[in-house]
Amino acid sequence: MQKISGKSVQNGTAIGKIKVYTKIGTPVKRIHVNNAVAEILRVEKAVNQAIMDLQNLYKIAVNGAGEDSAAIFEVHQMMLEDEDYNDSIRNIIEHENVNAEFAVARTNEIFSDIFASMEDEYMKARAIDIKDISNRLIHILTGEEENILSDLKEKVILIADDLTPSETVQLEKSMILAFVTVHGSLTSHTAILARTMNIPALISVPIENINELDGKIGIIDGKEAVLYIEPDDNTIEFYEKAVLEEEVQKKLLLELRGKPTVTSDGKEIHLCANVGNIGDIAFAQSNDADGIGLFRSEFIYLGSKDYPTEEEQFQMYKQALQLMEKKKVIIRTCDIGADKQVDYFCMDKEENPALGYRAIRICLDRVDFFKTQLRALFRAAVFGSLSIMYPMIISLDEVKRIKEIVSEVQTELETSGIPYAKHVEQGIMIETPAAALISDELAREVDFFSVGTNDLTQYTLAIDRQNGKLDSLYDKHHRAILSLIKMAADNAHANGKWIGICGELGSDLELTKTFLDMGIDELSVSPGMILKVRKRIMEL
Ligand code: PEP
Ligand code: MG
Repeated sequence: MQKISGKSVQNGTAIGKIKVYTKIGTPVKRIHVNNAVAEILRVEKAVNQAIMDLQNLYKIAVNGAGEDSAAIFEVHQMMLEDEDYNDSIRNIIEHENVNAEFAVARTNEIFSDIFASMEDEYMKARAIDIKDISNRLIHILTGEEENILSDLKEKVILIADDLTPSETVQLEKSMILAFVTVHGSLTSHTAILARTMNIPALISVPIENINELDGKIGIIDGKEAVLYIEPDDNTIEFYEKAVLEEEVQKKLLLELRGKPTVTSDGKEIHLCANVGNIGDIAFAQSNDADGIGLFRSEFIYLGSKDYPTEEEQFQMYKQALQLMEKKKVIIRTCDIGADKQVDYFCMDKEENPALGYRAIRICLDRVDFFKTQLRALFRAAVFGSLSIMYPMIISLDEVKRIKEIVSEVQTELETSGIPYAKHVEQGIMIETPAAALISDELAREVDFFSVGTNDLTQYTLAIDRQNGKLDSLYDKHHRAILSLIKMAADNAHANGKWIGICGELGSDLELTKTFLDMGIDELSVSPGMILKVRKRIMEL
């Protein structure tokens, strides 16, 4: 039995088979070959195989999502048949006497660079398609497993080096018992996802030879932050009892469903859920959320191969509103950037992405892209109780510019005779110290505030939330952060506006009383935390 300690990001116990996820795209080796003709034949066979796979994917996608969504697979087939692309691979094999995989990888670099450097936004975005078809060929040539994330057949403890937000969106969540990552930080999105799903998760677990664990039995003790590999019988027996006890505790908490979130002296709090996609709404409902306090819409972009269209977004937002019936749903506009990178956005590499081109900064720069989302949101708002929230605000000018764009969008919808909601509550995230410090001015311009404590902590304490080495300095209870929240709360209330907290701190039970004393009107937490926070509030 092996016992390895890490850091816990979500309590709980899990026992099960380990599945190791290693990233696709491990560097392709350059190998000298004597028989170039044989290598060229291998490529031709791989291209044929890839085209057949794409034809199958096309059929599945047409049935599942319609012709528009399936069209990408036809485009990929055409690209795979492109003469220039195939000639390049052949030439590299013939002239350099190298293996087929290397020639495909080299061709990928050349062609995707050409597309990425094009002026036209549409052509620029095709770089990702080149990467996609090249990866497909490389997987066929190497026989490497393509993607286990969306194709898990049994419940597993998922162990990975690290998981990016775009990898987490592919996960077949019903098959995950727990997460373990070798890297990662306390507020990374893997941690947030584990809290959403209410399953144990450990980060910073120093596992050597991660691949050797695949298929072995593991136990996660989220409380003690320990991973056991191939546990002995006594350990299994001990943790089986813990799992049963946790089930009992969960059942007790479930009795709080349907009860109002009210303190013993009668103060009622709006207790909502944070979600990343439509699928998470089921977690929000089963934990009796009063509404959705944060719908991270960027996960729709992270889960797409190309910009989601207005129609696709409209359908998703409408579905979210309908699933929540008449309850309020706050959808945050796209918060891409920093740790949430999307290839087809073709963004330059930055020295300090967290302080860089992200969120509202992209939206106010790429206005057409922003308007597509706004149109979808205002159209969907007809079907329920929608509020829109804008992330990463630092100035009054940004809010004024957003209002101008919103009014243009509404005029365009009006002129085209497309139904939309005229009055939609609109608020901003307070997640930069600047926003908190000028919250008196901002409160006059918006309908509500929601405090994003994850970023507010990062920017106030100058601590990169992705850097696990700094976790010990990430003092969530720092007086500076609590003072900024209090300042924003006072300014919101002085202007007759409401304020919520949607960052992870909102579910910190040690601070629930402090937040109530500040007059915070809404807490929006991971679905798995709702009933625990309700219990705490009822006890106050
Ligand atoms: C936050 O910063 O607290 C927040 C809720 O947004 P995200 O975690 O998605 O950056
Ligand atoms: Mg944030």
